[in-house]
Amino acid sequence: MAKFRIIALVDCDSFFVSVEQAEHPELKNKPVCVLSNNDGCVIARSREAKKLGITMGMPYFMAKREFKDCTYLSGNHELYEEYSKKIMNILKNISPDVEVYSIDEAFVDLTGLRRLYKMNYAKIALMIKSKIKEEVDIPVSIGLAPSKTLAKLASDKAKNTNGLYIIGSRKIFKELKNTKVDEIWGIGNNTGALLRKFGILNGYELISQTDEWLKSKINITAVELKHELMGEAVYKVDNSEHIPKSIQHTSSFKNFSSDKNFIIKELNYHIHRACLKLREIKASCLSISILLRTKDFKTYKEKRILSAPTNFELEISAIAKELFEKIYDSSILYRSSGIVLDKFSFNNETQLYLFDDTEFSSKKDKLTKSIDNIEKKYGKNSIKTGY
Ligand SMILES: [Mg+2]
Repeated sequence: MAKFRIIALVDCDSFFVSVEQAEHPELKNKPVCVLSNNDGCVIARSREAKKLGITMGMPYFMAKREFKDCTYLSGNHELYEEYSKKIMNILKNISPDVEVYSIDEAFVDLTGLRRLYKMNYAKIALMIKSKIKEEVDIPVSIGLAPSKTLAKLASDKAKNTNGLYIIGSRKIFKELKNTKVDEIWGIGNNTGALLRKFGILNGYELISQTDEWLKSKINITAVELKHELMGEAVYKVDNSEHIPKSIQHTSSFKNFSSDKNFIIKELNYHIHRACLKLREIKASCLSISILLRTKDFKTYKEKRILSAPTNFELEISAIAKELFEKIYDSSILYRSSGIVLDKFSFNNETQLYLFDDTEFSSKKDKLTKSIDNIEKKYGKNSIKTGY
């Protein structure tokens, strides 16, 4: 890998709020907050809501009392995930090297793309911004720099500079003199405190130390960060997909319920969404758990280990129903239900299971493939399996 690279950190502005504004344009340029689960506190704010003085994590009852003109919305995380996926796909179409860092942030290695797009890197960054705005109506800020650590620093600054901030090699020293060690990505509280103890207060003072000194007095990460801050890409943009160890799908009911049919229907919906995710990562699961949570926040869980892996709704829902019968009590009011699938095996591992009926398997594969294709074409939940 060439030593000097051009890395962008693309970060969505007030992501959850921006998604809500994209879905409901009448909320644009207004104070809007998105609330945490069960509407406990504020977890995202529009620029206007920030200006009013609403702080991150402020309890909802307090915000509602003090800032009546703001619109407060319950979070819709499934929707945010959908938007996230679309944005990441736009980025993956621009560069093969995209590292999804969080739901609303990604590193994109742009090295060499100048020739492909016949424009300089700043223009490529602006193209990314306008593409995301046009296609999904989400504003993003971009930090551009020769390493991930510097790109992260640049993206923090981009928030106050029209959404693009570049730290080129000539600007590095000046930037680092103005950057406290605690503001550097990868420096946690302990390392920050240790550096300060030795009188190293800003990024420039950090890169002025020798590797040997940093290694012996601080840690090896400090050495890596030093070189990152000097504009050498020590950390690679990692485009490998992170495969989850388990898939969980749960949600609260609109109203508390002890209605058996209703709860089973909800469970089947979760099973369907979890199976979609499972098939997306080309996996099957060997373990199924169902969760029921009561009005009084007691959680009941029941688990089954299967003899052969599956990612097929009908198989899982049949087992889930048996598990449900074990823990369901008609005299209890429930507030939520959910499913957890784990112990994955991957389709390319071609495990042969004794007693597995291959004809049934291939029919199942065809059926699930057509479900997924129809959903891709006509949108989520356009198909409902009759359970
Ligand atoms: Mg963000």
